[in-house]
Amino acid sequence: MADLEIPSGSQMLQQQQQQLPPPQPMRLEVEPSTSSSASSTTGSAGSSSGGAATSSSSVTTVVVDVIATTAGTVEDPLEPCKKKPRVDSGEKCQSPCKEQIIKRETTEKLEYRLGGILCCAVCLDLPKSAIYQCTNGHLMCAGCFTHLLADARLRDEVATCPNCRVEISKHQASRNLAVEKAVNELPSECQYCNKEYPRNTLDRHERELCEERTTRCMYHRIGCPWRGPYHEVQSHHESCSHPNKSGAEVMDILRVFDQDIEKEKKMYNSIFDLLSYENITFNDLQLKPYRTDEFVHKLYYETSRFSAFTNQWVVKARINNNQRDPTQSCQRQFTYQLILKTKPTTPLEISFVILKGPFGDMKLSPQIHQFEFTEQTNESPYFTLPLVDSGEANRLLSAKTIQFRLIAFRQ
Ligand SMILES: [Zn+2]
Ligand SMILES: [Zn+2]
Ligand SMILES: [Zn+2]
Ligand SMILES: [Zn+2]
Repeated sequence: MADLEIPSGSQMLQQQQQQLPPPQPMRLEVEPSTSSSASSTTGSAGSSSGGAATSSSSVTTVVVDVIATTAGTVEDPLEPCKKKPRVDSGEKCQSPCKEQIIKRETTEKLEYRLGGILCCAVCLDLPKSAIYQCTNGHLMCAGCFTHLLADARLRDEVATCPNCRVEISKHQASRNLAVEKAVNELPSECQYCNKEYPRNTLDRHERELCEERTTRCMYHRIGCPWRGPYHEVQSHHESCSHPNKSGAEVMDILRVFDQDIEKEKKMYNSIFDLLSYENITFNDLQLKPYRTDEFVHKLYYETSRFSAFTNQWVVKARINNNQRDPTQSCQRQFTYQLILKTKPTTPLEISFVILKGPFGDMKLSPQIHQFEFTEQTNESPYFTLPLVDSGEANRLLSAKTIQFRLIAFRQ
């Protein structure tokens, strides 16, 4: 389905561009800007591992653009030219708009090129956190940098820059603050309204400013399940029935909330219990995408080996519990398992929890799991990665690697 929509959508836009002036000339600008940003943020250099995820993310972008273009709902506050036609006649606007298109095309090309230059040389992503460089200036995101150091430690080798093979270490590499700041200025797309904003303002825009951001009803605490775009919340409040519920009805709802809070409290208490264990380790890991060699290739993720409690381990993850074709479902989730790679001398009763870690930006509500690893049972069952929503799973799928921290406890 999606494959069919893209060519027809872009053809339609090309035709519109040739027949200038179209009835709504302003909206043409939206297409090139968003699609080029999608490739610049996800890196179009075509790494073999992340290729599928990248193309699927650009599919959604293009389709969304086409819908937005035809529905005519796109407004760009950064685009002065758009506001003009409302005041002036359409005639007057056409030439500045053409200029604007040319101007934006050249700036976009620069942004796109910068995206390619400033990305991490290992994962090709534009990093959100610290950026390191080797003594020859090759850039690596903090996640990949620590990963290279960790791999070298495990192999008992000297870590080297993947580009020029010069030795790298905590002392023989430096942060590149200029690149970090430049990356922050590059445009990134809002997940709700698909408009572009500088990376350093995007968080605030998505959290507080975006008119399309998902918002809850102000009566959600007494049970209103409504969720919708921010610009509809006012009209919902006017028609919401929840403020008129009786005390008895509200009490029933509060009872459910109390149960949830009780559950949460239990989890925090168990974390404090675990923190008194004698053996605690943490590892900052990176899940990388691979494909199975079955007849129908399946995407799965795996970390490199890491050591904990004098044993070697890996974490494996898969999508939608190994569903045959996850693209058929709009709900996405990751499940993961912990695998013991060495033979334990005694059974290992391990509690573990996945957190976002210092270099990741995964949004999840942590859950503790427990498993007894023995010589015979060296793989834990698959547990759900407790991501905040399905959109977060898609965001992780579109990234080249997934950074996280695994904390493990052993009594
Ligand atoms: Zn990287
Ligand atoms: Zn280098
Ligand atoms: Zn937005
Ligand atoms: Zn409501």
